[in-house]
Amino acid sequence: MLRTHTCGELRISDINKEVVLAGWVQRVRNKGGLIWVDLRDRYGLTQLIFEEGGGSLALLEKAASLGREFVVQAKGTVIERTAKNDRIPTGDIEVRPHELNVLNPAKVPPFIIEDETDGGEDLRMKYRYLDLRRNVIREKLQLRHRMMQETRKYMDGERFIEVETPVLIKSTPEGARDFVVPSRINPGEFYALPQSPQTFKQLLMVSGFDRYFQIVKCFRDEDLRADRQPEFTQIDCEMAFVEQEDILQTFEGLIKHLFSTVKGVDLGEVARMSYADAMKYYGNDKPDLRFGMRFSELNDLAKGKGFSIFDQAELVVGFCATGAGEYTRKQVDALTDWVRRPQIGAKGLVYVKCNSDGTFKSSVDKFYGQDDLKAWADRMGAEPGDLLLILSGDASATRKQLSELRLKMGEDLGLRDRGVFKPLWVLDFPLLEWDEETQRFHAMHHPFTSPKKEDFALLDSDPGSVRANAYDLVINGVEIGGGSIRIHDRGVQQTMFRHLGFTEDEAKAQFGFLMEAFEYGAPPHGGIAFGFDRLCAIFGGSDSIRDYIAFPKNNSGRDVMIDSPSPIAAAQLEELNIALALKKS
Ligand code: ASP
Repeated sequence: MLRTHTCGELRISDINKEVVLAGWVQRVRNKGGLIWVDLRDRYGLTQLIFEEGGGSLALLEKAASLGREFVVQAKGTVIERTAKNDRIPTGDIEVRPHELNVLNPAKVPPFIIEDETDGGEDLRMKYRYLDLRRNVIREKLQLRHRMMQETRKYMDGERFIEVETPVLIKSTPEGARDFVVPSRINPGEFYALPQSPQTFKQLLMVSGFDRYFQIVKCFRDEDLRADRQPEFTQIDCEMAFVEQEDILQTFEGLIKHLFSTVKGVDLGEVARMSYADAMKYYGNDKPDLRFGMRFSELNDLAKGKGFSIFDQAELVVGFCATGAGEYTRKQVDALTDWVRRPQIGAKGLVYVKCNSDGTFKSSVDKFYGQDDLKAWADRMGAEPGDLLLILSGDASATRKQLSELRLKMGEDLGLRDRGVFKPLWVLDFPLLEWDEETQRFHAMHHPFTSPKKEDFALLDSDPGSVRANAYDLVINGVEIGGGSIRIHDRGVQQTMFRHLGFTEDEAKAQFGFLMEAFEYGAPPHGGIAFGFDRLCAIFGGSDSIRDYIAFPKNNSGRDVMIDSPSPIAAAQLEELNIALALKKS
């Protein structure tokens, strides 16, 4: 070993020990005859001290020549510091070296490698290997590591078998675009990278594996955002001979285990809500339950009083912003501008201030008397000092807009505390979703999700109202997992494909292997997958999943460190039997 101790290890009890340390030079402070060098490794920081007279001149000169991020080895004695530093665990001691070896010099790094850095995101991504030397980043990946280990522990304890499924496959059913890989030995044919291992995990149930899981990379060619990457990691799971309740219990168990072992948090009860209620009361299928502000519908109270905007609206709906009654005119105007932005798209905002003397002041006083406004306030459960915010228009668009406003108010009023965790199962999702663009139904989850038995008869008459045995786990307004009880009957699966607009031949070409498998004794089964990167980000209190991925891609899907994607050599294309004829975009 090139060292006897790590840079985070030595304490006052080690005084007088002869030690060998190795690491990176974090900082050199040169006071002429006295030089301090902070030596860093993954475990911490230890101060080295070089003094005139304390050692040879050559040693002092060598210390003076060290630059940031040089890799060095120091052999010396542990001594007590005169000026102690209580901010670091090794702050009581320092090492006085009698030998210093430069194991490797380093160029001056492009940004400061400390918790507070001067490097912007682009630069840090280009030199991600340097960024990863920073404690704040490494700690995020250590959190990820911990969560992975605890996931495996829990799943193993519940008798799940970890099985790897292939990466070179064909199109999967998650509804995003596939990444494809050309096959050299099958000219003109392509593999697709898995959007998820969905079909394989179902096949493993047919194989009798009974309980499967995998911490697995998935690939989806979608537009990127802070919480999306083209390749991301799922905790993917499937169980046989279960009903929805069994799955909910098992995976509540997993999440609770992770919270208690990794964060020391007792998650408590996981709330449950139907999709229909989530949309009605929060305008969102992943409501943030860290705060209230449930929606109240006002159609019956607000229409027919001469205010044409409300009279013509399909829905008048609002919520009570508790304690925001003191908002100034300027603040309310700013909210109005905010909802009018094209990203939100509301036409306007109606407010009612619930004054402390029990009276009301609204932006629609011309049309509504105090009794009307009181009725609104009562419906919304408002108290003096609260502010009612109301939108109107087309029902589904208005709910979405109000949901955005609710989240903004939650943020502005400081109610979205990152240290508070509110988990929620959203249940009974619709099976199908109408797509205006293609003018046909799409599977809301994926085509293998089973319809609720009691809604099965509606499949032909009113497909849009059929509910699925599908569930999402939401924490603090972020969807962290989703799954369903599957169809395990070939006939039902065929009906489903028909509703999704697949011809029999298309269904056979894409998923024939699965339908055939269902004829060889498929057990009832269901499963779920968690977005592991997102889960890590929630645990770490961050909005960006990128921080939790060692080598992430940027918003254009590029890895700027290795410079990928990139063109390939003509010879490589030739081997693949591919001639490029790129369309002008
Ligand atoms: N494959 C699904 C997904 O990636 C999860 C599942 O249904 O188990 O969302």
